[in-house]
Amino acid sequence: MEELDIVIVGGGIAGLATSLALHRKGIKSVVLERSESVRSQGAAFGIQTNGWLALEQLGVADKLRLNSLPIPQIRDVMFEKGIKRRESVGLASYGEVRGVIRNDLVRALAHALPLGTLRLGCQIVSVQLDETTSFPIVHVQNGEPIKAKVLIGCDGSNSIVSRFLGLNPTKALGARAVRGFTNYPDGHEFPNEFIRIKMDNVVCGRLPITHKLVFWFVVLLNCPQELDSNLVKKQEDITRLTLTSIGEFSEDWKEMVKNCDMDSLYISRLRYRAPWDVMSGKFRRGTVTVAGDSMHLMGPFLGQGTSAALEDGVVLARCLWRKLGQNSVNSNVSYSASRTQFEEAIDEYIRERRGRLVGLSTQTYLTGCLIEASSPVRKILFVVLLMILFRDRIGHTRYDCGRL
Ligand SMILES: Cc1cc2nc3c(=O)[nH]c(=O)nc-3n(C[C@H](O)[C@H](O)[C@H](O)COP(=O)(O)OP(=O)(O)OC[C@H]3O[C@@H](n4cnc5c(N)ncnc54)[C@H](O)[C@@H]3O)c2cc1C
Repeated sequence: MEELDIVIVGGGIAGLATSLALHRKGIKSVVLERSESVRSQGAAFGIQTNGWLALEQLGVADKLRLNSLPIPQIRDVMFEKGIKRRESVGLASYGEVRGVIRNDLVRALAHALPLGTLRLGCQIVSVQLDETTSFPIVHVQNGEPIKAKVLIGCDGSNSIVSRFLGLNPTKALGARAVRGFTNYPDGHEFPNEFIRIKMDNVVCGRLPITHKLVFWFVVLLNCPQELDSNLVKKQEDITRLTLTSIGEFSEDWKEMVKNCDMDSLYISRLRYRAPWDVMSGKFRRGTVTVAGDSMHLMGPFLGQGTSAALEDGVVLARCLWRKLGQNSVNSNVSYSASRTQFEEAIDEYIRERRGRLVGLSTQTYLTGCLIEASSPVRKILFVVLLMILFRDRIGHTRYDCGRL
């Protein structure tokens, strides 16, 4: 059986960020990714100040800034039965917001890793603990099992590692989201702002990435389950469904969807890990833990999923390095002695992250409830709760995950 020190499952944002953070501290890891290439689903996302602070620590922020415009403000517009009820403009973040193409981010992270770190086409099917050493063993489809000293599950929303930890399953929201981007060869004329429009059962967002490229999403609230299988089998089906949903929007929105880059189109049913599960979840079993969506999957309502995954990577690498340093990871310390150190490092990581993640997932959850609420009483309830708990709506962007 192959024996490795630190194994990361999933070469998405959290997995690559964690591996790069460890590498920058001189600690080796191996990332097992099931796709044959670094995955491209998900189009793009907005990254706020806290995410940029994490990217600085990972050494890729300046490279990513070259391809994305700063977005100073956010505009929220609400229509009811065709009538504009509210419009507000505010800061998008304390500091910096930019849209980043997912491919650019994963490539920047992956290219900064040493050769041999990322193993593509490597899907894990289960995890167990070795009966004698209590270290994890990862079973890989069509491959030899791998024994690891530390296993970090960054395998996204349907995580095998979080199931191994015994975490409660994630919950489905009634909503589905379509994400994509559209290229305007002669330049678009949209203002340099993130705009979100809610019209009855649909929420649309648009974020310019460059002067020629915009990222957009359409969230279909209360979307019937049968849409999962029947209507959306091909990219063309996703476009048709999206165009039908935004029938009441202005022509520029419809043109944007019609002319989108078909490869970037991605539809998913929104799921989340309940805030009370983030508060009480047991995120460590032996020397196995989780990061990113596997740990704290949340709806897109604050746009913090990616940034929180980047923060996880920085904090986890720092905690492992503080306890172990590079030498102890690769040294011949006895299995049982080093296992306790690994466990302590993981506990420190969980302790540091939990407060931050409970805040983010609660604010995201309440914001989602407010957006979905149809009765005025429920709307008032969620507005009051948000005002009491999160008076500063964008306070979450001030967070600094600290130095590596
Ligand atoms: C509509 C929408 C809009 C969003 N907008 C934003 C935004 O504006 N800003 C923001 O910060 N976030 C946003 N997010 C959230 C963001 O996309 C996620 O939080 C982020 O991608 C999580 O990264 P991750 O690495 O945890 O998971 P992923 O990026 O999903 O990576 C998981 C990886 O694990 C691999 N994997 C899974 N299972 C296995 C296995 N068994 N073996 C091996 N590999 C495996 C997968 O192939 C994948 O590469 C949005 C989400 C949605 C749905």
